Amino acid sequence: MSARVPERHPALAGAAAVVAAVVRPEIRALTAYAVAKADNLVKLDANESPFPLPGALRAKIAAAIADVAFNRYPDGGAEGVAAALRTLLALPGGLGLILGNGSDELIQIIALALARPGAVVLAPEPTFVMYRISALYAGMRFVGVPLAAGFALDADAMLAAIERERPALVFLASPNNPTGNAFAASDIERVLRAAPGLVVVDEAYGAYTDESFLPRVRDCANLLVLRTLSKIGMAALRLGYAVAAPEWIAELNKVRQPYNLNALSQAAASVLLAEGALLAQHAATIKAERARLCDALSGLPNTTVYATQANFVLMRVPDAPRWCGGLRAAGILVKNLHDSHPALAHCLRITIGTPAENDALLAALKGTA
Ligand code: PMP
Repeated sequence: MSARVPERHPALAGAAAVVAAVVRPEIRALTAYAVAKADNLVKLDANESPFPLPGALRAKIAAAIADVAFNRYPDGGAEGVAAALRTLLALPGGLGLILGNGSDELIQIIALALARPGAVVLAPEPTFVMYRISALYAGMRFVGVPLAAGFALDADAMLAAIERERPALVFLASPNNPTGNAFAASDIERVLRAAPGLVVVDEAYGAYTDESFLPRVRDCANLLVLRTLSKIGMAALRLGYAVAAPEWIAELNKVRQPYNLNALSQAAASVLLAEGALLAQHAATIKAERARLCDALSGLPNTTVYATQANFVLMRVPDAPRWCGGLRAAGILVKNLHDSHPALAHCLRITIGTPAENDALLAALKGTA
């Protein structure tokens, strides 16, 4: 298929000069986030859940969406969803909860709220790239602290950087993306005790590990736990949430756009969040498949499979671009992290799929290795 050449409008020829004059140089230096096309491919590149919803549940969601008042703005506080979340998480009263258009939006809101001139964002690296990018959007200075061997948190180096930089905001993704490992709770606690500002413990992959910092929010004035529904079967909704002391949430709500969660997502989420048993069953299947897949991948020659507590696995191979290309030719999309960070040279990140998808992956890898 030949690519369509976009039409040029002569009157717009002057736009480039004005863009160069007024758009912030750090924004012009960025490349917009590219989402890989996945048409007809087995999609193991974005850490989504591989399970489609059962038909009866889809019908329930359709009915809920049919009832949405399309001519009205959505409920600005998303109160139905918030109540369903409080029940699902058994959140004690007295804690603040804020919902975002994906946890990506909450990361951005947090950065914007804390972006005093000169303020610093600190995070270990490699980690989720949106921490650095959101800091940049907000005009904050980002400081990365290299992870230790095996991608463990280097707590001594983190504490030294906290002492030196006095960050307004620290991000710790645990389990970490893209490395997959959870950080030691004792290391996270050291960071919490030393940090002068807010510490965000991002538990995007919390459904796939046993440890959570959520129960500690009520004992810890500078802790915010961030979560998302994207990794447990609802990526299409764009729904993330954060729990912290009400004082934090009150300030974040001032930065949040009044109608940040659209009514369709709210309607669907209210149905889905009542399906705790189904969500738990899917997570259990993913965990069992993760063990099986990691075991099989570890048998491939000249590769390193890193310990994971997420719904994906990081693997170092002899030639990541070639392996990624080989898998793509076999109809499987994975994330090639080579070139994304020096510590990730020749690394692939592979999302755990359905049992059949994982079998297809293993068969294709045997042809590639
Ligand atoms: N945090 C981490 C650690 C992630 O890996 C991701 C998704 N890649 C997010 C947050 C954002 O997820 P979402 O915006 O879909 O909630």
